[in-house]
Amino acid sequence: MLATQRRFKGTHLKTPSAATTNEKIEDAATLIVESEYVVALTGAGISVESGVPTFRGPDGIWSKLGQPTTNGYKLFVENPTAWWEQYVSSTADPTRAKFRDAIDKAVPNPGHDALAELERLDVLKATITQNVDGLHTLAGSELIIEIHGNRNFFRCIGCEKRWPRTELVFKGQPPRCPECGDLIKSDTVMFGEPIPRGTLDRCYEVTERCDCMIAAGTSASVYPAANLPNRVLAQGGVVIEINPNTTKLSDRADVTLQGTTSEILPILVERVVALKRRGR
Ligand code: NAD
Ligand code: ZN
Repeated sequence: MLATQRRFKGTHLKTPSAATTNEKIEDAATLIVESEYVVALTGAGISVESGVPTFRGPDGIWSKLGQPTTNGYKLFVENPTAWWEQYVSSTADPTRAKFRDAIDKAVPNPGHDALAELERLDVLKATITQNVDGLHTLAGSELIIEIHGNRNFFRCIGCEKRWPRTELVFKGQPPRCPECGDLIKSDTVMFGEPIPRGTLDRCYEVTERCDCMIAAGTSASVYPAANLPNRVLAQGGVVIEINPNTTKLSDRADVTLQGTTSEILPILVERVVALKRRGR
């Protein structure tokens, strides 16, 4: 039994639109097995069923508790001590505290498991995630590019070296990188902060090779990640979207699978396995 099926019973959807969706899943599985370099682009939606809220939308954490300042990186650089003081104070920012608690409790769901399985099958060559929760890694994926960082790590803003969150302690002065002396901050990319060069280069490298992108649980509205499916389409590749809602990408995707990632991805992976067995 596939790891992805552990918490999922049945191989077909049984919702009212199931017939169309099952056909579309078969189409998507065929596109995947006929492709050479499949890449996933994931967003906040894939972690919703792990209990991590999105930022935007009716249930989004920003909609309920307010959006944080949009010049976070500038404020950090201007006053890193203030940032660190706020970081260690659990009560300073209720939005951040609620998000952090949700991530600390979260475990991967069948959507994360399915992508890990697709990687083990050597079908999925990389997962570019906008998520900062580390759940893809916990599910067993290894070929991960975290375009917005990982909240379980710190990073030097100079040389991009990273440390697990537990390894650094704030003692009144902002910690400095032992390698290059630059400032250290949370690995999570802040508003106004450039995406680390090495990470962005890896995203473009795998996207350039990609002939099939699975956009799962993303509104495709945060750049530059939102542009990656467009690049795949422009170079003649295909895009498969999985989302319960319509997004900016829906019209352009070759197949749009309407549903949650924990529902759709395990079935999709199972269909891929079946087609591969049949020698497709
Ligand atoms: P977004 O909030 O803009 O969009 C989330 C998308 O997920 C929406 O299109 C929504 O329809 C879809 N969705 C909701 N429930 C779903 C489900 N069960 N299955 C599949 N899809 C579902 O998220 P984004 O596109 O990732 O961009 C927002 C930014 O927020 C990213 O930069 C990301 O770093 C950050 N973020 C990360 C996390 C996390 O790490 N888990 C959580 C919230 C926000
Ligand atoms: Zn450094």
